[in-house]
Amino acid sequence: MRAAVIFAAFAAPPACAISTTMFNTRIKIKDVLATEPAEQQVTVMGWVRTFRNNQFVALNDGSTNQNLQVVLTLGEFPDDLLRRITTSASLKVSGTLVPSLGKGQQVELKAVTVDILGESDPEKYPLQPKKHSLEFLREKAHLRFRTNTFGSVFRIRHSLAFAVHQFFHNKGFLYLHTPIITASDAEGAGETFHVSTLPAGNPPRNEDGSINYAEDFFGRATNLTVSGQLEGELGATAFGEIYTFGPTFRAENSNTARHLAEFWMIEPEMAFCDLEDNANLAEEFIQYLIRFVMENNADDLEFLRTRLLDEEKMKPQAERSDLDLVQKLQFVVDNKFERITYTEAIDILLQSSHYKKKKFQYDVKWGIDMQSEHERYLVERHFKKPVIVTGYPKEIKAFYMRQNEDGKTVAAMDILAPGIGEIVGGSQREERLDRLETRMGEMGIPTEELWWYLDTRRFGTVPHAGFGLGFERMVQFVTGMGNIRDVIAFPRTPKNAEF
Ligand code: ATP
Ligand code: MN
Repeated sequence: MRAAVIFAAFAAPPACAISTTMFNTRIKIKDVLATEPAEQQVTVMGWVRTFRNNQFVALNDGSTNQNLQVVLTLGEFPDDLLRRITTSASLKVSGTLVPSLGKGQQVELKAVTVDILGESDPEKYPLQPKKHSLEFLREKAHLRFRTNTFGSVFRIRHSLAFAVHQFFHNKGFLYLHTPIITASDAEGAGETFHVSTLPAGNPPRNEDGSINYAEDFFGRATNLTVSGQLEGELGATAFGEIYTFGPTFRAENSNTARHLAEFWMIEPEMAFCDLEDNANLAEEFIQYLIRFVMENNADDLEFLRTRLLDEEKMKPQAERSDLDLVQKLQFVVDNKFERITYTEAIDILLQSSHYKKKKFQYDVKWGIDMQSEHERYLVERHFKKPVIVTGYPKEIKAFYMRQNEDGKTVAAMDILAPGIGEIVGGSQREERLDRLETRMGEMGIPTEELWWYLDTRRFGTVPHAGFGLGFERMVQFVTGMGNIRDVIAFPRTPKNAEF
């Protein structure tokens, strides 16, 4: 009965089903620009970038940085309408697609009707049709998508996100949604944001004065996740291969160009996998993402390449890079990453003239957690390419990393990228229950609380490994943007949660 009704509805659509809404006839400017002009009638909608000589509108709809030139024949449109065509006003224009006489474009739209959808007061609109600094645009993050730089960055960010899913889907990985609110402080790092509905000023207390979380929303202390890994391991030990791609939160007070309090991370986790498989996957993954953008966002990359060259012109010759953005990306997809051990990395640093001339701010010796200056020396000065460093001292790494036979190091790996530093952190996980429990004991991590995690080692444990790729650092690498605040739509950093 139901099916019949539906069929009838399809068979004989009521008259009103033929929609006359204004938006369904719209063609995206990107597509218009790729069309051979032959006097077609088209309708476009977008925002005015500039309006010259009461005739030429540069219209942008966000599908590309290329504006469509809309030509308003002199005398055909009332002055009152022309006055309202101002920067960032929104327009609906219908007209005829013709070959362009101006240089720089093949087609232009000869306007027949122009509707102003929304006015924009040029006295009040905060962005001028000129170059603004990235710092200034951060204060206007609600409007910065309307600039070429952010148009390119966010279209590339979108492409990268799409490519992440495509890469893992093609390999048969399952996309697992790990929780955002958790009760485990996975790394034991303590840099978490607490989640609580208790009255902040006057929370219920235990007899010893500590906060009584039993009365809290979840009946225990909870926080925003710093990593989906522990839950990811649960997925991997059933599905074989999973990945997560979600927001992570760290209350670390690091005001750098590479840290956010809220960032997105991709965390694949693979059963039947060792450290070398893990490194191979990470390398293939990064190269895949770059290649995807080179193939699908060539014009946005070209815009950013030129932008970066202009920016570099301000720098002294010695600080400019040998390769431009596109050459750098090409180099990374064409060449294997360097692979060294932590011990070798420390030796290289100790042998460097940079070290001997005391140019490192932080000391170098076996056992240190390498600072960003050390990582950048390795990739930018020494190897001049991405480097995979393995075998870190166990003291500076997390409890779940697999212990090597030397008793001093663990099967960890970090991938360091030029201009970024650490872009990936990963490891083979400790699958041996006794070793894992011993290490947790040494590091003061309560085994009772992670009973569910330890169950994976009790019931069919397997060698497994995984890594975390910081999505924004990847976007930085591909776009060449120097500050991580410029590759996420609404950055969250210490003392900043506007928009
Ligand atoms: P770092 O030493 O740079 O702070 P980390 O050792 O804390 O990094 P991991 O815990 O291994 O990093 O996280 C995995 C990945 O997530 C990192 O390789 C990096 O790409 C990214 N990442 C870590 N912290 C941040 C942050 N605060 N903002 C943006 N990305 C981050
Ligand atoms: Mn960190």
